Amino acid sequence: AKSSGTGEIRLFEIWMEQAATLRSQLEHELHQAIENKEFRVFYQIQVDSNLAPTGVEALVRWQHPTRGLLAPSEFIGFAESSGMIVEIGLQVLETACRQITQWQDAPQTRELVVAVNVSAKQLYAPSFVDQLKQVLRTTRANPACLEIEITESQLIVDMQVAIQTMQAIRAMGVRISLDDFGTGFSSLSHLRQLPLDQLKIDQAFVRDLSLNPNDDAIVRTIIELGNTLKLDVIAEGVETWAQHERLAQMGCERYQGYLFGRPCSVEDLNLAPGTVRHE
Ligand code: C2E
Ligand code: CA
Ligand code: CA
Ligand code: CA
Repeated sequence: AKSSGTGEIRLFEIWMEQAATLRSQLEHELHQAIENKEFRVFYQIQVDSNLAPTGVEALVRWQHPTRGLLAPSEFIGFAESSGMIVEIGLQVLETACRQITQWQDAPQTRELVVAVNVSAKQLYAPSFVDQLKQVLRTTRANPACLEIEITESQLIVDMQVAIQTMQAIRAMGVRISLDDFGTGFSSLSHLRQLPLDQLKIDQAFVRDLSLNPNDDAIVRTIIELGNTLKLDVIAEGVETWAQHERLAQMGCERYQGYLFGRPCSVEDLNLAPGTVRHE
């Protein structure tokens, strides 16, 4: 029994060494990716009650030199814990703002809002507000066409600092959306303190709509909360017309999900109004 015990320990050590090797390889490759600008930004359409496009969410992808196009789940966690997300996030922000500038020139795309995800590490970096100003200045993007998505769970790190930063962001004319709403612990009194433009209903609640009566109640409550606080409400993860219909009945006026389009490159984006049709 003793010898098998040491065998287990040895195996565990090997496993730990391999994990450390993989981690340092990922770290090396991510540094490389930042330097070589290997990140691409995909966009997912958002629509209003008439199914007309109102904007897009910018979602990062990593064009890995050998492994192909990688989803955020493959690298965002590590980028976050290592702090590299700050540099990656800045590149995404720059790309998104350059896209806004391009869309500013055509009447059909002038008012599209581009939503950019900002991680806790970015939000709490003292340089974030200055970097945002700098990017807006150099790209000449209209701040009203930029939206910052912050998740509810980020707020609890330091509510005071979060509020100050959010106020500075909004003072520039940039919108703020509270992502994954309903999964955290924001109380009503917290919400009233926050400088917000929009609540984004987490896709977990949308997925189970009308299958689970509790989720109906949660979604209804979020929409009413948004109306009371005079905030826009958008539902994410809308995959079926049944979900869309339930949400519309409950007073939701903005939607995002595979039903209207998957995240794709800007070349593949279909922004023509009326292309999304209820069959
Ligand atoms: P998120 O911000 O909640 O983004 C929504 C995710 O849901 C995206 O996954 C999107 O592709 C997916 N999605 C959209 N519509 C549907 C639908 O109808 N059904 C289902 N099942 N899923 C849908 P994605 O692109 O893999 O991104 C995953 C997460 O990675 C994002 O979740 C966000 O937290 C993070 N992320 C993505 N881009 C960035 C970025 O530039 N910076 C930071 N900090 N995080 C990012
Ligand atoms: Ca998001
Ligand atoms: Ca979300
Ligand atoms: Ca999420």
